[in-house]
Amino acid sequence: MSYVDEVLEKVKAKNADQPEFIQAVTEVLNSLRPVVDANEEQYRKLAILERITEPDRQIMFRVPWVDDKGQVQVNRGFRVQFNNAIGPYKGGLRLHPSVNLSIIKFLGFEQVFKNSLTTLPIGGGKGGSDFDPKGKSDNEIMHFCQSFMTELYKYIGADTDVPAGDIGTGAREIGFMFGQYKRIRDLYEGVLTGKGLTYGGSLARTEATGYGLLYLTQELMKCHGESMEGKVVAISGSGNVATYAAQKAQQMGAKVVTLSDSTGWIYDPEGIDIELLKEVKEVKRARLTEYAAARKSAEYHEKKSADDHGVWNIKVDIALPCATQNELNLEDAKALVANGVKAVCEGANMPTTIEATEYLQKNGVWFVGGKAANAGGVATSALEMSQNSERLSWSFDEVDSKLKGIMVGIYHAIDDAAKKYGKEGDYVAGANIAGFEKVVNAMIAQGVV
Ligand code: NDP
Repeated sequence: MSYVDEVLEKVKAKNADQPEFIQAVTEVLNSLRPVVDANEEQYRKLAILERITEPDRQIMFRVPWVDDKGQVQVNRGFRVQFNNAIGPYKGGLRLHPSVNLSIIKFLGFEQVFKNSLTTLPIGGGKGGSDFDPKGKSDNEIMHFCQSFMTELYKYIGADTDVPAGDIGTGAREIGFMFGQYKRIRDLYEGVLTGKGLTYGGSLARTEATGYGLLYLTQELMKCHGESMEGKVVAISGSGNVATYAAQKAQQMGAKVVTLSDSTGWIYDPEGIDIELLKEVKEVKRARLTEYAAARKSAEYHEKKSADDHGVWNIKVDIALPCATQNELNLEDAKALVANGVKAVCEGANMPTTIEATEYLQKNGVWFVGGKAANAGGVATSALEMSQNSERLSWSFDEVDSKLKGIMVGIYHAIDDAAKKYGKEGDYVAGANIAGFEKVVNAMIAQGVV
């Protein structure tokens, strides 16, 4: 049995109750076969794959807090510190009722390779809680965030582990967490990224993941002799990534015609009105139904079932899934291919199922996974860490142009890695291989730790 298959069996047996984690490991290890096969003896002896699939540490804790009615609520907090071979652990905090250990481990595992791809010195981790921020008052959010940090602070630090935002964790939550960390530790340091601009945040961080996704997509198109001008784009989600992906796509001359949330989706053939979208989502914190109500050209479609991903049935040139994991399945991939989609680039983490990915690739769609395509967020977080370390703030344009350089660099790194191992055009394999090689070289150099 090959070393990859042997380790996959062990991972499945050891983590049988963690489907998302198994899915992520299966996808990554399968795509690493060429590089693992070429170094099988050495990697097996050093147990590289066993070590890289086992987090350095997994922390789970109780988060008690008091709601506005005086009722004590209890959530579960997580921080998985996956691998710090190339730098301090870095990765977001997800606040969503679906959060469990499997999801945090899959995200932490993927983060290791993504962070490596950015070329910046950051290891991989992820955390969060099954707390649902939806419908909570600011006071309740603060109580939760303070309680969460009262335990988490023991494990993090500017040179140890630097969490960031993710689903459900935006500037407000990071602010509350940073305040509590500072209070408990009496230490003003860059322990979190995604901070507000008045206390150490970076310009362009808010825009970074969505903008970065488009910088990479534009480079992909350019290298295939195409431009973004006039392209019709489907985007899912309507949160941070989706909003700024839509904005940059339209700045590049494309037309974004869809958005979604967990209850429904919109089709706006005239192109999304970005200012209206921001007003609805960022100012009013309202749902897409309000966008549709305020915009004549937009149709709202309520979600009929968990598998209703209507946005992928629209005829588009480019699809950018920017909501959540497993939101683009085989049926969706078939609809996209039938409608002549050229490129699919993932703004979210693992939004495309393995079967859908394979179908898209087999049908000649240029497919770039989230590890590469959404790395702009964490890359800019690392730029925020640099600014915090030197106690300086860079201008928007300075950060944005570094971001663009990083994303263009990532595209070429994954393209080159795929070609080097005879997998030209397989950007999933290219991303995994390029990210993996750097981490493994560092692990080997640092001995058995
Ligand atoms: P937000 O919380 O801002 O937005 C998430 C969006 O996805 C919302 O529209 C939300 O709808 C929708 N969504 C969430 N869960 C589900 C679900 N189970 N089913 C359907 N829709 C859902 O998050 P972000 O935009 O920050 O993150 C989106 C994705 O991008 C995530 O996978 C995240 O890990 C990834 N990512 C984010 C980065 C960042 O910098 N923000 C960096 C790299 C990756 P609703 O409002 O109804 O919940």
